[in-house]
Amino acid sequence: MGRKVMIVTGGSRGIGAATAQLAAVQGYAVCLSYLHSAAKADEIVTAIRDSGGEAIAVRADVADETDVVRLFETADRELGTLTALVNNAGILERQMRVDQMDAARLNRILATNVTGSFLCAREAVRRMSTASGGSGGAIVNVSSMASRLGSPGEYVDYAASKGAVDSLTLGLSKEVAAEGIRVNAVRPGVIYTEIHASGGEPNRVDRVKDTVPMRRGGDALEVAHAILWLVSEQASYTTGSFIEVSGGR
Ligand code: NAP
Repeated sequence: MGRKVMIVTGGSRGIGAATAQLAAVQGYAVCLSYLHSAAKADEIVTAIRDSGGEAIAVRADVADETDVVRLFETADRELGTLTALVNNAGILERQMRVDQMDAARLNRILATNVTGSFLCAREAVRRMSTASGGSGGAIVNVSSMASRLGSPGEYVDYAASKGAVDSLTLGLSKEVAAEGIRVNAVRPGVIYTEIHASGGEPNRVDRVKDTVPMRRGGDALEVAHAILWLVSEQASYTTGSFIEVSGGR
């Protein structure tokens, strides 16, 4: 088998950083993207290289088409043929009801979480599809349990964006199944990362953890393990599937 190359969007922190590091341990050359956290992205790259792995970091806004194209071209040039994409970059904003949300906020959430995932999937399919001379590959979209639960009173806009990610996963998986590309998703529950601070509640996981059947929040690495299984050869007959990494929530 040839060299394994993975792009992880939003790999500077949280679930993306854990995924990038686990992927490197499993032999992937990793290109991680970030938006603001250059120093954190460099730390992840350095940690991977110090352990003998290969990684690069690229600043690229997934909501910006030019940035996305440059991200994939950089990975082509510096790492080689893409074999896996993890569509992880995602945002939420301050907790509020739907009747308080304005169009600017809605468009920001949709641009990053939905348009970003579509654009990155597009670039991956163009490279991987056997119909256009590629060698196949795997895409994992990072959805959320929010797509099933709706996030009332917190961020229904975010939940709806993850509903769109679920539909992207289903539709694209069928569209490219005969072209050597598998498309799956994970739905994390409440995971200890910095995303909750964007909602205005950094300690949200500790507030809601007693509502989780397992009575605890999850660790980013527990999500990364599910993602790495979905991209692996062990998941060779799995496409259009969802793994809920949510402690039973
Ligand atoms: P996080 O700690 O806030 O990290 C988000 C990452 O996405 C950062 O690396 C950030 O880059 C990057 N990012 C944000 N906007 C971007 C953009 N426009 N372009 C490129 N990169 C961008 O979040 P997380 O909790 O690890 O979340 C990762 C994914 O898991 C998201 O899709 C999220 O919706 C999903 N998820 C999380 C939870 C949870 O409880 N934590 C639950 C369900 C689903 P910078 O560092 O440069 O800002």
